Amino acid sequence: MAEPVYRRVVIKLSGEYLAGAQSFGIDQPTLDRIAGELISAQKLGAEIAVVVGGGNIVRGVEVSSRGVSRPTGDTMGMLATVMNCLALEAAIERRGAAARTLSAFVMPQVCELYTRAATHKYLAEGRIVLLGGGTGNPFFTTDTTAVLRAAEIGAQAVLKATNVDGVYSADPKKDPSAKRFDRLTHSEAIAGGYKVMDTTAFALARETSLPIIVFSIAEPDAMSAILLGKGHGTIVAG
Ligand code: UDP
Repeated sequence: MAEPVYRRVVIKLSGEYLAGAQSFGIDQPTLDRIAGELISAQKLGAEIAVVVGGGNIVRGVEVSSRGVSRPTGDTMGMLATVMNCLALEAAIERRGAAARTLSAFVMPQVCELYTRAATHKYLAEGRIVLLGGGTGNPFFTTDTTAVLRAAEIGAQAVLKATNVDGVYSADPKKDPSAKRFDRLTHSEAIAGGYKVMDTTAFALARETSLPIIVFSIAEPDAMSAILLGKGHGTIVAG
């Protein structure tokens, strides 16, 4: 059987994607498909941690324009990511695989607190680890969380799932002349101001020498393909 090129990865899954064609909430068929693809990717022999976003439920910036403070709005967003993790954990376990949600916040009735030690332990046990609660701090994003956690747990790459097949010079859905990059350095990604990930995430990845692979989750079994080094994504690396 083909060997994965990365032994341990952090996959960043946006909350927005979990909504499927809806603008809010969780689309069950989409969730089930992603759960199945995560299990297939893990079966290749990789250790998989997933940072899940919360944009399908709450984004801090949006609610803070409606009368709550930005830190409170961001806290609501971070709690939304935990809800998505719990839904994904259930979807993975329904398919007979083992998953475990860890949260950046103490919430013992809900799930265990994120620590590096707990993450190492559950990955070694063969579980897919779902990391909720973002960084635990307002003003950050789950993209930055993915890079931070990857650096903390010694992952070899961050796999950033998006709706497009890589990094483009402009939004390819709006601008047909947008150029797609096969490869970029972290510094080029920052200088280009490409919207696919925030600058903080790219800067931390540069600092920690972490490659980020931006790929389309709409392609069937894209995560497995990327893990086998055959995927069609943009590699952002030093
Ligand atoms: N968030 C935060 N700190 C973090 C991670 C996330 O405050 O470390 C909040 C922020 O309000 C954000 C929301 O959680 O809008 C959901 O995360 P994100 O927008 O990254 O989710 P995605 O766009 O991937 O669904």
